[in-house]
Amino acid sequence: MHEVSIVLGMVDELMKIAGENDAKKIINVKLKIGKMSGIVADSLKFVFDAIKPEHPMLSSAEIIIEEIPLIYECSDCRTAFNTDDIYFPCCPDCESYNLKILSGEEQHIENVEIET
Ligand SMILES: [Zn+2]
Repeated sequence: MHEVSIVLGMVDELMKIAGENDAKKIINVKLKIGKMSGIVADSLKFVFDAIKPEHPMLSSAEIIIEEIPLIYECSDCRTAFNTDDIYFPCCPDCESYNLKILSGEEQHIENVEIET
């Protein structure tokens, strides 16, 4: 599962953040996950919940996932549109395939709430 390596990387990052901020505990973690990232939010939560008992710092941490829609902009007519098509999207106005991604590739920790 793709999500396992994502969560392991995230846990490393959280431990670093906790260390830098002298945290006793991590309370919640807000993530931004774009549709294009290929990450399934439910799987990510599932893996995180399975891993957190191994880390006292995370034992009561909640994960909050904000899913970012996939938005393209047409390079020909400048229309911006939202789609679920990650493979062959085309512009709804002029049917061009000359598109640029505006959002949907995000995959990062947005915010971490800690107890010090
Ligand atoms: Zn267009």
